[in-house]
Amino acid sequence: MVQKTQIRAPRGTTISCKGWQQEAAMRMLMNNLDPDVAERPEDLVVYGGSGRAARSWEAYEAIVRSLRQLEDDETLLVQSGKPVGIMRTHANAPRVLIANSNLVPHWANWDEFRRLEAMGLTMYGQMTAGSWIYIGSQGIVQGTFETFAEAARQHFGSTLKGKFVLTAGLGGMGGAQPLAVTMNEGVCLAVEVDESHIQRRVATGYCDTIARTLDEALAQVREACADGRPLSIGLIGNAAEIYPELVRRNIIPDMVTDQTSAHDALNGYIPAGLTLEAAEHLRKHDPEAYIQRAKASMVIHVRAMLDMQKRGAVVFDYGNNLRGQALEAGETHALDFPGFVPAYIRSLFCRGKGPFRWVALSGDPEDIYRTDEALLEMFPEDEHLKRWLTLARQKIQFQGLPARICWLGYGERDKAGLAFNELVAKGIVKAPIVIGRDHLDSGSVASPYRETEGMKDGSDAIADWPLLNALVNTASGATWVSLHHGGGVGIGYSMHAGQVTVADGTPEAAARLARVLSNDPGMGVIRHVDAGYEEALTYAQQYNVKIPML
Ligand code: NAD
Repeated sequence: MVQKTQIRAPRGTTISCKGWQQEAAMRMLMNNLDPDVAERPEDLVVYGGSGRAARSWEAYEAIVRSLRQLEDDETLLVQSGKPVGIMRTHANAPRVLIANSNLVPHWANWDEFRRLEAMGLTMYGQMTAGSWIYIGSQGIVQGTFETFAEAARQHFGSTLKGKFVLTAGLGGMGGAQPLAVTMNEGVCLAVEVDESHIQRRVATGYCDTIARTLDEALAQVREACADGRPLSIGLIGNAAEIYPELVRRNIIPDMVTDQTSAHDALNGYIPAGLTLEAAEHLRKHDPEAYIQRAKASMVIHVRAMLDMQKRGAVVFDYGNNLRGQALEAGETHALDFPGFVPAYIRSLFCRGKGPFRWVALSGDPEDIYRTDEALLEMFPEDEHLKRWLTLARQKIQFQGLPARICWLGYGERDKAGLAFNELVAKGIVKAPIVIGRDHLDSGSVASPYRETEGMKDGSDAIADWPLLNALVNTASGATWVSLHHGGGVGIGYSMHAGQVTVADGTPEAAARLARVLSNDPGMGVIRHVDAGYEEALTYAQQYNVKIPML
């Protein structure tokens, strides 16, 4: 079955489900597939290589039908994008429980995953694609902004002004990079093999301009750096060709990273020397050869990054497992540059701080502006938050349902959630607000090449934490909870969980929000206390987080 019409979540206060919790899940599933939000909605692909919202169009229709029929004391079970059962639970239980892409560890590799996927038995859920809380590039832009800001603080006196940042990949998530660099006053050259993806970022204000040749791009980089003027340029090209060419010319950027979908060698990375059409042909007719060529290109790509590091550039991996793939393909030095979490994010995670996000189900941007105001009133002393919310309002266009993201920690998220519930109760916003987060969070992921890289106690690969996170969010009454494998860095490399909770203005929602939005970031605090981080311990003591063996 092929979907003929474009999908767009309903707006306004008329609902077609039996309650707002079910309606919220349905609207968010639809919003993930909105053509303004998803990268390839016709294939149900939302972002991140082949991250899908549902396994097939039949499964999508069945999910929507099930949500419309779901009672207030029932729970829909979704197994890798397919609805498989409806169980009687109770009013405070989640309305939807989702498990995506999970495989028994011995079988958790791409070959087995692809075999099962081809048989129609599973799908790749990425992080927020299969858990229905993707909000377009905005969802990552603050995280990317925070990362570049921290990198600037550590290496360049707190600004990227006059600095040349090289990256690649302008897809769903990577597309946030140029804007995050210019928000930090820097100059970004982003190499992207697919011209239409650059055009999309230019059209939505994420990237300033497009260049067709390296010389043209470099001239603009030089001029903007010399003027100290923020600028982002999308260069049509292949990273595995452009990065080594820069090394050959001894042009060494100040900072280098990459966000191609390297985690998925078959669907996410275009090998050097191939046009998009030739790549598609090879992928279809000889997937083995394709994977080999993609991995060989990743080795060249990583070697160029290592050379740039040796010549003075600040180099880091941006969470796409590029290093892991190059290591597997024989580049023994691949891990010589760090991942972005240990380099720039870990201390935020110690405080349960991570990508908190929310969506206005009314579809009215004014509702988001009311929530912005509520946050500014609630945290008046937080200058960083103020700067972010001001910049976000000025620079970020909404995609699909209006949404916002901002990094909040333990002791802050529950406050925000309760305030949003009050806005709904008082009619200050026109419809309920959905509150969720990325799976890339402080206590919800085990991913040794990303969120849990280099843990102080060596517990990088311990995957009990995301399981406990999903269980505690379920017990706390989140509206939907998801447990995934393989997001971000690919099959075999990560386990992670997500939650979304609806603020519908009722006292019951307030109680659920208070529990979920404390316990969920609380998992981040206890995970980092357990791993021996002093900062997390101080924070836990300050906020009276109960930890039995302290
Ligand atoms: P995407 O699949 O939507 O985009 C990838 C982009 O890379 C595409 O536009 C593609 O054309 C381009 N590309 C592929 N091969 C290329 C090459 N050789 N040279 C130049 N461009 C090439 O993926 P996305 O959602 O943007 O995510 C990118 C990666 O980042 C994924 O691996 C994802 O798992 C990871 N990720 C990181 C974070 C983070 O916070 N760091 C968050 C989410 C996702």
